[in-house]
Amino acid sequence: MRKPVIAGNWKMYKTLTEAKDFVEQLKGKQVDSSKVETIICAPALFLEQLVHAAKDSFISIGAQNMHEEKEGAFTGEVSGPQLKDLGVSYVVIGHSERRQYFNETDDSVNKKVKAAFENNLTPIICVGETLEQREQNETETIVSNQVMAAIEGLTEEQLIQSIIAYEPIWAIGTGKTATADDANDVCQAIRETVLDSFGEEVASSLRIQYGGSVKPENIEELLSKEHIDGALVGGASLQVDSFVKLLEAGE
Ligand code: 13P
Repeated sequence: MRKPVIAGNWKMYKTLTEAKDFVEQLKGKQVDSSKVETIICAPALFLEQLVHAAKDSFISIGAQNMHEEKEGAFTGEVSGPQLKDLGVSYVVIGHSERRQYFNETDDSVNKKVKAAFENNLTPIICVGETLEQREQNETETIVSNQVMAAIEGLTEEQLIQSIIAYEPIWAIGTGKTATADDANDVCQAIRETVLDSFGEEVASSLRIQYGGSVKPENIEELLSKEHIDGALVGGASLQVDSFVKLLEAGE
């Protein structure tokens, strides 16, 4: 059985004060970590304090991006060793906003995924199609190609640990959710892609999240689907009450 994993992606929202307040409030909630895994992916400059605030709780802290090199003259960037040293456990890689606004490619995503593992960080690898690609019935091809490129060269153990987030770009921040069946179909296609290259054990262990306008009203149906093992959530992860409802749906 795959344990559901609910990750909040805060993007460029919240001040440090708000972020610490959120974690303090969330820590006070009863969430069974044996049933659902909870991750908050926060802006880089809060990570140290949030790791500290979340210590010994059910909450894990993730970054939203990292550079593929371990160090160097890359002004404004954050490296894997720097994240690891702070005690960060997860890192979102290849989010569509980074692909769209910061020129990330399948190749840079693959390099970052490998760099994450070199630093004991678990990658949350994001893939997803545009509306135009969906309308042209290219979704499964596009997404499978993104997955293959992102995981190229990983070992079986690394892939079993990884999380893949299927986020259709047209559903992000728009209020439009893929239907649970459509989302499940693409998550199944991702699992089959992994099955073809890595075999049954890896494919059946790999956790695949859906992301894109997930909220308390739609999460139960999404999580009820066979191939959806959690959610990567933007807007609805910003308030403690709605985030807790998402976690409860995972329990
Ligand atoms: P929303 O939940 O706000 O649509 O954002 C999804 C997302 O991009 C999470 O990474």
